[in-house]
Amino acid sequence: MAIPATCSEVIQVQNVLSRRISANLLVFTVALLLATVGNFNFWSNFVHAVGGFSLARLPVLAGSFAIVVLLFYALLTPFSFRFVVKPALIAFLLTASASAWFINQYGVVIDKAIIQSIFETDTREATELLNWHMVLFVAVTGGLPSLLVARAKLQYPQGVRGIAQRAGIFAGALALAALLLVLLFKTLAPAVREHRELRYLLTPTNAVQALNGYLRNRWSTPVPLQEIGRDATKGSRWAGQTRRTVTVIVVGETARAANFSLNGYARETNPRLAHEDGLINFAKVESCGTATAVSVPCVFSAMTRERYDDNKAKHQEGLLDVLKHAGFRVHWRDNNSGCKGVCDRVEFVDVSNPSTGSRNCAGDECYDQDLLEGLPNLIRQSTKDLVIVLHQKGSHGPAYAHRYPAGFGRFGPVCNSSEFETCTRDSIVAAYDNTILYTDSFLADTIDLLRKTASESGVDTSMLYFSDHGESLGEGNMYLHGAPYLFAPSEQTHVPMMLWMSDGFSQRFRIDRSCLQARADQPLSHDNVFHSVLGMLNVETAVLNPKLDLFHACVRN
Ligand SMILES: [Zn+2]
Repeated sequence: MAIPATCSEVIQVQNVLSRRISANLLVFTVALLLATVGNFNFWSNFVHAVGGFSLARLPVLAGSFAIVVLLFYALLTPFSFRFVVKPALIAFLLTASASAWFINQYGVVIDKAIIQSIFETDTREATELLNWHMVLFVAVTGGLPSLLVARAKLQYPQGVRGIAQRAGIFAGALALAALLLVLLFKTLAPAVREHRELRYLLTPTNAVQALNGYLRNRWSTPVPLQEIGRDATKGSRWAGQTRRTVTVIVVGETARAANFSLNGYARETNPRLAHEDGLINFAKVESCGTATAVSVPCVFSAMTRERYDDNKAKHQEGLLDVLKHAGFRVHWRDNNSGCKGVCDRVEFVDVSNPSTGSRNCAGDECYDQDLLEGLPNLIRQSTKDLVIVLHQKGSHGPAYAHRYPAGFGRFGPVCNSSEFETCTRDSIVAAYDNTILYTDSFLADTIDLLRKTASESGVDTSMLYFSDHGESLGEGNMYLHGAPYLFAPSEQTHVPMMLWMSDGFSQRFRIDRSCLQARADQPLSHDNVFHSVLGMLNVETAVLNPKLDLFHACVRN
């Protein structure tokens, strides 16, 4: 900026500075500043995540920038009142500036752990982190704008009109951001899914989120584990039986019912299961959530979807505990990212690590077939009745084409990239359909294994399969999953579920297959799983709700 030379110019500049500006304009300016100055690192990572900078990507980048500015504008607008707006904006500017320094300097992500170390390290350690470079950086990028905010003369929209104006800005900015998000979803969804670090890089929302998480952890009192089903025992149909039972529960990943040919999908994605004798396919099953972190704890809990509470689930025993109380040995094998607390008190084996040198692994991927490795041995050697959970990697996106071995690429051409905008919708769907074809084969192999051990090892076997949630594949320009349940399209909530029982299994528990078959088209949900597994295995306990037990009306006396 040129230095004013004359008195009249000095007076002009003073006039500009002394002019009152609208508080809303100041808030918008700060939103713009936060989105740019505070987020160099975020944007450079973001550009990389969407596949690098090019002219063709300019609309996506500009649109994303507009989304961030609009979001910040909406989030700051509720502060635009006299006495509140200046301290709030200054706090955001300084926080963003300090966060940006730490991210740039140390490559750290701003999360709960960082906040914890800031609050809980001694002052000597903390002062080591502070140095003159940082002070200078924060002074220029945070302090200078803060000074201008502090000096600004503001006019505030008054009364009811003022409130309405702010509400209008808040809703309008969010609506516009949402519209842009929908338009850019095909590119943004896989980029953000594949590069989760992005949400820790966007300042100051990362710092606010992390502080919130830290304080909640800090002030929450430890909750003792609530036991349920302590009264569980094996019921009367176990009397006089000498054969052990083995029940396999396959927890699918991101498999949507609509793409199973068993449910009428045009492509033959279930060539093996279609010929599986005695398999019962439940065609209308709704998931509890649209993401693994909700669905998996929910489906194993005694809570229904309507009553499900994430926090309560963490501190309450679930299906696997009740089965243990009844005397079963429970074993969880995982080819996913863990069991979300569901298997904390049972045997756990992680098969997802390629370093084990398993022949079912390629590159950094282990195919679901790995879950069956060593299973016959486990069954043979166990002295107790077994419940084995197999947690698939299934159809996890966006890199669908990485989920199955070469022999399963029946549909194509397939999208080989995580960058959806480089692929046609058909090629994305083709890759997804191949994952279902592979799951078809995996489930058929599981049934073969159980049929074989039933005859060779003298055990009675059964398998229950269901997916945790579905997936959007471009319907309404939506991809992946995780939409809020209330608005989630059926592609994300309609999941496959099927049951197979060896003859010995259904006979000993006197289960009427045709009665179950008749229920195959009834509307069911994850709510039924907890009670139906207990019902199928004739476990008697007060926590079993017969109304949700699929088997209740299908047992012959
Ligand atoms: Zn999932």
